[in-house]
Amino acid sequence: MTHNASTPTGPVTPVLPTRGVLSPLGLDEVQITGGYWADLQELNSAVVIDHAEHWMERVGWIGNFDAAREGRLPADRTGREFADSDVYKLMEAMAWEIGRTGDARLEERFQALTARILPVQEPDGYLNTHFGRPGQAPRYSDLENGHELYCYGHLIQAAVARLRTHGSDPFVEMALRAADHVCEVFGPGELESIGGHPEIEPALVELARCTGEHKYLDQAALFLERRGHGRLGEIWFGPEYFQDDVPVREAEVLRGHAVRALYLTAGAVDAAVEREDGPLLEAVQRQMARTVARRTYLTGGMGAHHEGEAFGEDFELPADRAYSETCAGVGAAMVAHRLLLATGAGEHADLVERVLYNVVSTSLAEDGKAFFYTNTLHQRTPGRQTAADEVAPRAASSLRAPWFAVSCCPTNVARTLASLGAYLATKDDDGVQLQQLAQAQLSTTLADGCPVGLQVTTDYPHDGRIQIRVTEDATRPWTLKVRVPAWAQAGAVLRAGAETISPADGYLTLTRAFTAGDEVQLDLPMQPRWTFADPRVDAVRGQVAIERGPLVMCLESVDLGADVATATVEVTEPPVEADGQVLVPVRRIGMADPAWPYGAAGSVGAGQANDAEHRSALAGAGAAAVTDGSGEPELVPLVPYHSWGDRGPSTMRVWIPVAGS
Ligand SMILES: [Zn+2]
Repeated sequence: MTHNASTPTGPVTPVLPTRGVLSPLGLDEVQITGGYWADLQELNSAVVIDHAEHWMERVGWIGNFDAAREGRLPADRTGREFADSDVYKLMEAMAWEIGRTGDARLEERFQALTARILPVQEPDGYLNTHFGRPGQAPRYSDLENGHELYCYGHLIQAAVARLRTHGSDPFVEMALRAADHVCEVFGPGELESIGGHPEIEPALVELARCTGEHKYLDQAALFLERRGHGRLGEIWFGPEYFQDDVPVREAEVLRGHAVRALYLTAGAVDAAVEREDGPLLEAVQRQMARTVARRTYLTGGMGAHHEGEAFGEDFELPADRAYSETCAGVGAAMVAHRLLLATGAGEHADLVERVLYNVVSTSLAEDGKAFFYTNTLHQRTPGRQTAADEVAPRAASSLRAPWFAVSCCPTNVARTLASLGAYLATKDDDGVQLQQLAQAQLSTTLADGCPVGLQVTTDYPHDGRIQIRVTEDATRPWTLKVRVPAWAQAGAVLRAGAETISPADGYLTLTRAFTAGDEVQLDLPMQPRWTFADPRVDAVRGQVAIERGPLVMCLESVDLGADVATATVEVTEPPVEADGQVLVPVRRIGMADPAWPYGAAGSVGAGQANDAEHRSALAGAGAAAVTDGSGEPELVPLVPYHSWGDRGPSTMRVWIPVAGS
């Protein structure tokens, strides 16, 4: 990691609150050294970042800056109004990656991109390729949909990454000029409005943390307070779409466009923490608690409506129409990480784990060259493979696609994976908390100078054993806390020498004057388990999901040898695990096609088997007829949801009808 004199001291991390219950360990203190997350980081480093840059050259989004420089706009502009933001998100990913690996070639590319963007910035700090030139709409003439403030938000987050990993440079100076411009134009008594897509809010707070400039925090707080008073104009989806319906501190739940709502909430946590605004922090905690309890998929995915890419009503969580945008998964992790730091409550780290394993890593193809934009929990018809050189419309792709006309998700995955180490561990004056269970090396110093070093060895999430070796002699007793996911509370055990410890409040806790070489071992119960939904999630009533460790599993037609619509599952015994596979007992039901698919119990379709199976057919497959269901069930292997579709088009379901229910 290179630093110059202007690099602020402190951990290298995307979120660095000046107060709160816990402090994050930075990327300079945590290295992921192997296993699942190391593989993803390697894929990001070797493929995803290059892929995103290649595509943005190809579709012209980087070229928009060249066209601006050369006076070829608006004629030669490509992409949507927010295309600039994806270039900045790519650069954020690059900045974290350069910080992590010191990759000199990537550093050259970062500087080359900077050189192409820099001349486009206007003397007063304004920077956008879509507005303000002859033939383009005037600046800030479409705050609802224009995304200028959103683009600045991503520019600033990339600059924070650059500042923390490298120090000031022309890119950072460009972002600071843009941030100053925003404060001037949108300050008190000036243009008293907000942007339709939140994102500038968390960015400005982080810039304030990074530079010590209070005005950025004040501006973020202004944007937050202005929201919810109907300042934005009428749009098709109503003011709820961009959270302009209810003031942030009065809302009860997240609603409207999911990514907008989550970015706004991340900014609200940041501002509340920095301004010691207890009521705002409480409001956000209340909103997130209800959102998690009533508006979140089993995967941690958020957003049940394709229309408006929005949250549904409470418990409206249809598996087959799940929007669950990949970016909403990233947004949920952003909010949960901030709430973890602010409150110390392990449930937030649980949510981070759920979305990282079941949304963010689901998006990414095995080869790193294709992505899910939406993350359905039930694929009814085999998807269509998008060609390697084809741009997919955003939500229409039924399998992972290499690039999208709206391509917010791939660059969001890239920046998240490059900074993944930031989610792993936290500290307070008493010690260190291991929040995520990955193979890693940690080294930090507590407030009084006591050194802490840990080496974590594990094959989690495949295996439930986590070995932690202390690598530094302590100068006094300190407390090691290891988060135990909610699903593992009953069976988790920490062994330290002869001592055996069980979890309390979501953590295993051990206080000692540790010496180098001390070892503790955590074992989590990894046997696969049946998971049922609150009956108010009526879209999956009578159905069951299967989880193993932190992974949601799913059934694919490739493994069933038939459409998954024909499957019902017996739940009288736990799921089976054999040869590294999770298997469930499936009864297949035959499908007939009645002319009218409704009727009295037992009267619909033809060729019923027995009553129980007929009922299961009615419950599980609409009113399809039972033609076959007797005999022994067949054990069918499941795959982790995050790898569904890897073998090509298939039908898939996470929630499977329970036989006989
Ligand atoms: Zn997205």
